[in-house]
Amino acid sequence: MKKIQLHWQILIALVLAVLYGIFLPEYIGYVSWMGTVFLRALKMIIIPLVLASIITGVANMGSAENLGRLGLKTMLYYILTSTFAIVTGLILVNIFKPGAGADLNFTQEVGGHIDTSLGEILIRIIPDNLFDAMSDNGQMLSIIFFAILFGFFITRVNEKSKRMLTDFFSAVFDVIMQLTMFIIKFTPLGIFGLVAEKVAEVDDLIGLMQSMGLYMLVVLTGLFLHAVITLPLITRFIGRVNPRKHFQALRIPLITAWSTSSSNATLPLTIQAVEENDGVSKKIANFTLPLGATINMDGTALYECVAVMFIAQAYGMDMSVGQQVLIVVTALLASIGAAGIPMAGLVMITIILTVVGLPLEGVGLILAVDRILDMFRTATNVWSDSCGAVVIARTEGEVLENIV
Ligand code: ASP
Repeated sequence: MKKIQLHWQILIALVLAVLYGIFLPEYIGYVSWMGTVFLRALKMIIIPLVLASIITGVANMGSAENLGRLGLKTMLYYILTSTFAIVTGLILVNIFKPGAGADLNFTQEVGGHIDTSLGEILIRIIPDNLFDAMSDNGQMLSIIFFAILFGFFITRVNEKSKRMLTDFFSAVFDVIMQLTMFIIKFTPLGIFGLVAEKVAEVDDLIGLMQSMGLYMLVVLTGLFLHAVITLPLITRFIGRVNPRKHFQALRIPLITAWSTSSSNATLPLTIQAVEENDGVSKKIANFTLPLGATINMDGTALYECVAVMFIAQAYGMDMSVGQQVLIVVTALLASIGAAGIPMAGLVMITIILTVVGLPLEGVGLILAVDRILDMFRTATNVWSDSCGAVVIARTEGEVLENIV
């Protein structure tokens, strides 16, 4: 029998979970453990994933420093576009407040890190004891901070150590990625447990559905605005190319990104389209695109920001400006750290939740629709990577006559 694809499995799990939660709430204990196990498995991989992905990413970027100006421009483009995306999401989620209003029964105890001021958070970023930071989930920012420093200084040691460490951390990263893929196979069971439990305990199911619908709409609108307005404006005015022609050139990779939900899987097609259809040189395409597939994730960044704010709203938490700034920064880092594979963004959300002190169980809320949103955010990620390649090629003096 042909294997049913993951998104169908998730859909089936979702329907069954809702039915179970409605009709058999008194037997919820028989299934809720599946959700708990799934969440624990996700938590288990967070720290090694963050360490390995950020250290490898930064170390590789550092060695690209030889490319000097090109590296700097590329980084600038990645950080700017991801920040624009996050801010778009933040504005929309503040306007529409998809999580607020419906009584979701979620106003429960919330972690203690929430009242900390921005200044204090900044100081606490420097871990006084790395191992304490690792054992206390609230200190994820410290771990990220350490990983960035470690990755950076890998590029400053002798060739032999540099090679050894980069190889080591990218090997660890590969292993963790395999492990992540393995855990993700159990998503339908996890969803079943988590959603059934939520449905059983929520009084206002219709309200929950409405909130979920609005949440999806906010994410999709944000992605749409970013992909159709922000990025084309940048390609038009900084890259001085025709965004529509560029879009035509990228059709195949975009459809592939959408259907595979993986920037990495799409990468060969993205490189081919950018080189052959847009006419970008090998040098620039081969430098910017693989880097972009791993660290430039505008769609993911936007999604993470909206999702975390949605969860906060559902828990009845008012996020201060300081906390929202913190979400923006962590969403940016989390999107950099997220791998270009399906549902990587979801795993990274657990990090932001920990940083701002929201309960990890909030993930249960957004898990159900993550797979659908993943398709759209991945397409946005790939679209931004390709726009970046074009913009950088143009500022380096390339002609790209096919798309001007
Ligand atoms: N699936 C996304 C990508 O490959 C990452 C994510 O889960 O947001 O680009």
